[in-house]
Amino acid sequence: MVKLKVMISMELEGVTEVVPAEEDFQYFFTVMCSNCRETHPNIISFNVKDEVEITGSRGHANFVWRCHNCKKENTASIIPTPPSKSISPTPYTTSGQWDTLISLDCRGLEFTKFHFVGKWKCRPDVQVEEEGEGEGEGGGRGKGNRNGKGKGKKQEFEVEFEDGRWDDYDDINGIPVGINDNKSEIRRA
Ligand SMILES: [Zn+2]
Repeated sequence: MVKLKVMISMELEGVTEVVPAEEDFQYFFTVMCSNCRETHPNIISFNVKDEVEITGSRGHANFVWRCHNCKKENTASIIPTPPSKSISPTPYTTSGQWDTLISLDCRGLEFTKFHFVGKWKCRPDVQVEEEGEGEGEGGGRGKGNRNGKGKGKKQEFEVEFEDGRWDDYDDINGIPVGINDNKSEIRRA
């Protein structure tokens, strides 16, 4: 068994608390068999709610993979990142710093690369007390859009990365916002 941490680094512009948007977010990885060192030909994905049976009734894991090369069955599950007891991903807040997104308990396999795929969310870094009503509706520019959840503190942007970056405009604060220079590393916990 090996414990791995998915570390991410991003450059944040006007936003904070970048985190996968949904509880059943699909995490995409390149995976390698620790036994024969064969890399899975495809990028694989799983989410924290997946419960795949492990052969021989040894319970479940989020991800179960029988290596085509050595035929060994390997598994992985998302586990809490200490000191947290939650398996939820950790929101990313400090621009340019490496932080842990999730931790994994891996048996017989190692993830070698994390891929930024799927829907993420974040919120404005600027604290604004919203005054009028009906402000901030609509989509701003680009692909992102605001959920329009009222008070400034709860404003959220939907984020989908393209070529490792996302750009939008914060209508309420009147500033460009974005996330770029996305990097990931898999480290031993
Ligand atoms: Zn193998």
